[in-house]
Amino acid sequence: MRMHRQFYINGTWCDPIAGQDLPVIDPSTEEPCAIISLGGVADTDLAVASAKAALPDWMHTPPAERLELVKRILQEYKARAEDMAQAMSLEMGAPIDLAHSSQYGAGTWHISNFITAFEQIEFEAPLNAHSPEDRIIREAVGVCALITPWNWPMNQVTLKVIPALLAGCTMVLKPSEIAPLSSIVWSEIMDAAGTPKGVYNMVNGDGPGVGTQLSGHPNVDMVSFTGSTRAGIAISKNAAETLKRVHLELGGKGANLIFADADAGAVKRGVQHCFQNSGQSCNAPTRMLVQREIYDAAVDTAREIAEATTVGPASASGRHIGPVVSQAQYDKIQGLIETGIAEGARLVAGGPGRPDGFNRGYFVRPTVFADVTNDMTIAREEIFGPVLSIIPFGTEAEALRIANDTVYGLTNYVQSQDGARRNRLARQLRAGMIEMNGRSRSAGSPFGGMKHSGNGREGGVWGIEDFLEVKAVSGWDSTAG
Ligand code: NAD
Repeated sequence: MRMHRQFYINGTWCDPIAGQDLPVIDPSTEEPCAIISLGGVADTDLAVASAKAALPDWMHTPPAERLELVKRILQEYKARAEDMAQAMSLEMGAPIDLAHSSQYGAGTWHISNFITAFEQIEFEAPLNAHSPEDRIIREAVGVCALITPWNWPMNQVTLKVIPALLAGCTMVLKPSEIAPLSSIVWSEIMDAAGTPKGVYNMVNGDGPGVGTQLSGHPNVDMVSFTGSTRAGIAISKNAAETLKRVHLELGGKGANLIFADADAGAVKRGVQHCFQNSGQSCNAPTRMLVQREIYDAAVDTAREIAEATTVGPASASGRHIGPVVSQAQYDKIQGLIETGIAEGARLVAGGPGRPDGFNRGYFVRPTVFADVTNDMTIAREEIFGPVLSIIPFGTEAEALRIANDTVYGLTNYVQSQDGARRNRLARQLRAGMIEMNGRSRSAGSPFGGMKHSGNGREGGVWGIEDFLEVKAVSGWDSTAG
């Protein structure tokens, strides 16, 4: 059993002051695989004080120095690729090949993209050509609390820590208590890269404990949070007392609009995307809207893909999907599958219980429902498991109405060969991201949502700007340097 009780504060690993043990559960076996400590008020206060003390120097370092640190972090991250993939696979159940490619790979992708985006940030610039004595200065927001979820651990950590560092912020990271092992490796990386003392701190803890202490802390200037809409609301309320900036990346219920003129691979791609990472992605296309002309064929294809999707332990190599992360998630997903059946959706693949051959581990059967209506619970709630809902539609207007009829607004998808229709829909769909015909968004494209999916943008220039304040100056001496 691995013991990881210590926190990383002020450049050293230290024992908890007010810690409580928590076992980390391997979702493939349901057995504890490590012990961490959940911090308390004294640990949170120490980490915040360390970040606050480091802020004045760090925020005024030359930007090039911060960039050099990030380049060193990227090198160290690459050197720990194996440890990182193993940690994520163990803690949250990503099959080891997925952990290597996408879970670990998300980190290198984001760090590299931030290095490129950083060139576009102007920390000081004239207001305009006509106001020579006016200057716009961008400076760090200050001490940031970074609170991350378990589903894409390094994706989320790198999307927050790297832009905060580049902006000149100091920080306390609180990773998910369900998947804390990768953030322990991450903190070792930050240490090995030579991050100055106090600039980066890491405390483990849960939402009611360290999470709440950070969001209400008078010396924290900003919370950047990724997780459930429920927790996003709690954090916003708690942060309001101290008027801190709150950046939220929350849940989703993405619609995938598949028109009769879609390319031949559209349905298969949509089902596989929905099941990727065992359905535990905020941007998963979980509502598949299919035009009536191709509806029956699409349902057949979806059933075939679901039946061909294999399920297996995280440690095994291959293209199977792993377990879901926890007993709580397993129970929630099983309850929603039962609700789908009870509300009259047609079960075409999968269903309740574990897949054949499994009597332990949080394994879920890849499940497809057809004839779903958008008022059913499975079309409204984020399930966060390998469960797809297929909804028929007739016209473009009807598809648009169904897609936008949700509290969420993270990612929508459109499949059609008609470019004018794609562009029209891209303008009208109420979501932070629209991905069409299977084309991924490019490096530097911002990730984030609208409505109950949150308000922040992560990645690229936008991701760095979220950690910056704008300062307007008059009486500037442009001859003085
Ligand atoms: P969660 O909200 O339960 O937990 C996320 C983090 O917040 C954890 O670190 C947790 O300890 C902490 N937390 C929980 N309650 C808190 C509180 N009251 N105050 C402060 N911190 C609190 O979410 P989860 O189950 O870990 O992650 C799954 C959710 O994350 C899904 O809803 C998913 O859609 C969302 N998500 C969103 C994005 C995005 O970018 N939009 C990305 C990944 C995941």
